[in-house]
Amino acid sequence: MTIFTDIKAILLGLWTTWKHMLRRPVTIQYPEEKRQPSPRYRARIVLTRDPDGGERCVACYLCSAACPVDCISMQSGERENGRRFAVWFRINFSRCIFCGLCAEACPTLAIQMTPDYEICKRDIMDLLYEKEDLLIDGCGKDESYNFYQHAGIGVAQRRGEGAEEKAPVDVRGLVP
Ligand code: SF4
Ligand code: SF4
Repeated sequence: MTIFTDIKAILLGLWTTWKHMLRRPVTIQYPEEKRQPSPRYRARIVLTRDPDGGERCVACYLCSAACPVDCISMQSGERENGRRFAVWFRINFSRCIFCGLCAEACPTLAIQMTPDYEICKRDIMDLLYEKEDLLIDGCGKDESYNFYQHAGIGVAQRRGEGAEEKAPVDVRGLVP
C-alpha cells in the first residue's frame, strides 16, 4: 500500500511539471518586449491642461497636503486676471509610492497618473521632476472638464436656483 502511495505522489509531481511544460510561457523579455498596463495603472504623474490650453493647476496645495511621503512641493502665484498658477511645481519621484492620493485630492483634475512606468534613472537627482517635466500639452483622462467654467464665477441667482443645483433642505422638516 505504501509503495502505491509513493508512486502516486511521484506521478502527481511529474504531472504538475508536465502541465507547465505544455503551457505558453508567461515570461516577458523586457525591455525588448513590453506589456501595456491598463489605462488606470498608477505610474508617472503629469500635470494636464484645460481644453482651452490653460494650466489646470491652481496651486491650491491639496495634492501636497494629501501626499503621505511629502514629495510634492510648489510655489503659488497669481496672474493679472486673478487666475492662480504654480510658479514652480516639483515632484520627487525617488520618494513617490504611486499611491494616487494626489490625483484623488486634486479639484481641477490637473494632476493625473499615467501608465508610463519607465521612469527609472541611474542618478537619483534625475528623479526630481520640475514643472516643465510634468506639464503636458493635453487634457489627460477627461478632455472636456474645465474647472474655470465651474468655479470662480459670481453667483447671481438665489440659493438652490442654479442650473445644476437642488433646492436647499428645509431643516424644520427634519425635526421629529
Ligand atoms: S502618488 Fe502618492 S506618493 Fe506619489 S506624489 Fe502622489 S500622493 Fe505622493
Ligand atoms: S495639482 Fe491639483 S491639487 Fe495640486 S496644487 Fe494643482 S490644483 Fe491643487
